[in-house]
Amino acid sequence: MTLSVKRQVALQSHHTLGCPATTEYWTEVRSLNELVEACRYAKTHQLNLLPLGGGSNVVFTQPFEGLIAKIAILGKQIGNNQGGKVIVEAGAGENWHQFVCWTLQQGLSGLENLSLIPGTVGAAPIQNIGAYGVELKEVMDKLWAFNRETEQIKQFSVDECQFDYRDSIFKQPSSPWIIAKVAFKLSAKFQPKLHYQPLKQLLDGKSVTPQQVSDTVCHIRASKLPDPSVLGNAGSFFKNPVISLEQFKAIYQAYPEMPHYQAGSHQIKLAAGWLIEQCDFKGLYQGDIGVHEKQALVIVNKGNGTGREVMALASQIAKKVSEQFGVQLEIEPRVY
Ligand SMILES: Cc1cc2nc3c(=O)[nH]c(=O)nc-3n(C[C@H](O)[C@H](O)[C@H](O)COP(=O)(O)OP(=O)(O)OC[C@H]3O[C@@H](n4cnc5c(N)ncnc54)[C@H](O)[C@@H]3O)c2cc1C
Repeated sequence: MTLSVKRQVALQSHHTLGCPATTEYWTEVRSLNELVEACRYAKTHQLNLLPLGGGSNVVFTQPFEGLIAKIAILGKQIGNNQGGKVIVEAGAGENWHQFVCWTLQQGLSGLENLSLIPGTVGAAPIQNIGAYGVELKEVMDKLWAFNRETEQIKQFSVDECQFDYRDSIFKQPSSPWIIAKVAFKLSAKFQPKLHYQPLKQLLDGKSVTPQQVSDTVCHIRASKLPDPSVLGNAGSFFKNPVISLEQFKAIYQAYPEMPHYQAGSHQIKLAAGWLIEQCDFKGLYQGDIGVHEKQALVIVNKGNGTGREVMALASQIAKKVSEQFGVQLEIEPRVY
């Protein structure tokens, strides 16, 4: 056995919210063999197994009683051409942003709008990461996942992943799948996607390169979102709610300035950050935990705030938004 398992490991530095918590068992898996070993170890010792990437979309509210397997499977390679697209594969443990930068250096475009999203390649499909008008499902070709129950590897097509807005088959709490490798379909010929308003404002009408789009996305993100290495956070804490046209019309009468976006023919997506701001939570702190002063969608931890305090503030926010607007907010990160 090559697997090294540690006991009672602190999790504070292993997730971007930085709340104090521990795990009973901890290991790092660098290969498929080690992933199999970790799953068998958990089975033999009757432990819950939690795969962890960069920890940028999780909240730990209590000590984790089980085995956390940090997915550190590396490797990236450019494959063959398929229908004008270049297939590029990456191990689940690759850092997402570094992988995006590497594809750009290879002269391949497609991932530039998703620059600077924290985390790993393997976690990117979990909630179908999206930003600046592009979602992962548009650029993914296929992925390979390991079933911890049957110990089988399965190749998933995009359709089989059942991607939705910040959701997929893998985000379900009962999912037995651990993603080991992801393939992307990228382009040697650049077709910029600049329809998202902040990008449109800065770049539309100009002749741009994929690197310029990436740089612009990084610049906008850095100006709007707190850097988790400076101020603990898990990015957007709530999904933008999607409501029916009827419900939207009722709210819109009272709040005609409310930002909203078409989401299909009979549904409207609202900006959760705006709703939270209207409820006066922006910049509000309870001890070390608070709502970021520039972006109301982000809950931050100034130091030693706990996961329970994060969830308590999130509940207050959701309750007030529900009372004021009749809209239910759904939490984006996974809570343990
Ligand atoms: C500042 C900031 C900005 C962000 N901006 C965005 C954004 O613009 N768009 C967006 O969509 N998200 C955003 N996020 C959220 C986050 O970066 C993404 O969800 C990212 O994909 C999480 O990657 P991770 O490796 O950190 O996952 P983790 O937090 O480690 O894990 C998240 C979940 O995935 C599971 N998981 C992790 N790896 C695997 C695997 N290999 N197989 C199976 N399950 C796995 C974990 O068990 C957990 O349930 C942001 C977060 C931060 C902190």
